[in-house]
Amino acid sequence: MMKIPYAFLTKQFEHPEAIIKQVTKLVKEGDFTLGPRVDEFEKRFAAFQKAKYAIGVSSGTDALLMIFRALGIGLGDEVITVANSFYATAAVIANVGAKIVFVDVDEEYNMDPKRVELAITKKTKAILPVHWTGNPADMPAINKIARKHKLYVIEDAAQAFDASIGKQRAGTFGIAAEFSLHPIKNYNVWGDGGVVTTSQKWIAEKIKMLRNHGLVNRDICEVWGYCSRLHTLQALVGTLLLPLAKKVTDERIKVADRYDKLLSSVPQITIPPRRKNVRQVYHTYILQAENRDGLIKYLLDNGVDAKVHYPIPLHLQKAAKNLGYKKGDLPVTEKQAKHIFSLPIHQFLTNKEIEYVAGTVASFYRNPRR
Ligand SMILES: *Cc1c(COP(=O)(O)O)cnc(C)c1O
Repeated sequence: MMKIPYAFLTKQFEHPEAIIKQVTKLVKEGDFTLGPRVDEFEKRFAAFQKAKYAIGVSSGTDALLMIFRALGIGLGDEVITVANSFYATAAVIANVGAKIVFVDVDEEYNMDPKRVELAITKKTKAILPVHWTGNPADMPAINKIARKHKLYVIEDAAQAFDASIGKQRAGTFGIAAEFSLHPIKNYNVWGDGGVVTTSQKWIAEKIKMLRNHGLVNRDICEVWGYCSRLHTLQALVGTLLLPLAKKVTDERIKVADRYDKLLSSVPQITIPPRRKNVRQVYHTYILQAENRDGLIKYLLDNGVDAKVHYPIPLHLQKAAKNLGYKKGDLPVTEKQAKHIFSLPIHQFLTNKEIEYVAGTVASFYRNPRR
């Protein structure tokens, strides 16, 4: 039996010496908050993502929060998003006092543009699509609806670093985008970190103020802000890891292609449609399975660290109770929640390991006693 762990961090940072050397320098300089290292990181991040401005903040979650605050979205406003995302997507909407409006997803697990128009009311301020698994949502269609109704489009690109539709990067379709540098993301740092990208100078300037207590300088506080700066240490790590990021993505895409090929012959497994002109970066590799729970148990018993992202959609969580959703409101999302599972995916998987994982999935369905 092989052991195929989901985690990859100990392998990624087996040899941290080069980074540690730079950290030692930073510590000796006592350069811990903002400063040239954060500026440098932001410049490089913006260049990589083909964004006009990038602002480093303390997490992906706070990146979203800063965007909402900069755009003035809050009490009395409605924000349309999906229910198959990470908790933070919805939490930020609620935490600025706005109302979360969930719409259903398509077969690629992304916001279904057809559902969006039906959910728009007089109070709708923004549409918040999530590029789930690192697969860009249908941004041309979503932008068209947003233009028609004069709504902001904010992209939750936490999983979509280095993703694109055609030549255009995910994160450059809306007015602003949120990225996460959390350790388990494809492009990561040594703790929490996040980035806002935007094409608008006024948003960039406002967020630089908001992340640092609303200060324009040491003595002038223009608005009540936050302590949401990207740590200088994380900016340094981010800058040093950035040159490796594309290769990580390329490796993940190769792993996903191999899985796709090997699993396409298993009739009980549904692979989502793969658009040809899209660079999907596979933060997670999610398929749907018949007898999902049986399959997961079998995979775990055979050393494959399979997971579910996530078994309970956001609209059915206890936290969403006051929104009044019930089972059946988002049929596609709910059906997927019963069948989705995630296989280990990262840049260190070998062909032999990929074949073992796919072979284990296939063997579960070959044995009728299961
Ligand atoms: C990771 C993630 C976030 C939150 O990012 P943090 O850096 O952990 O705050 C938000 N949305 C999605 C879709 C994510 O995957």
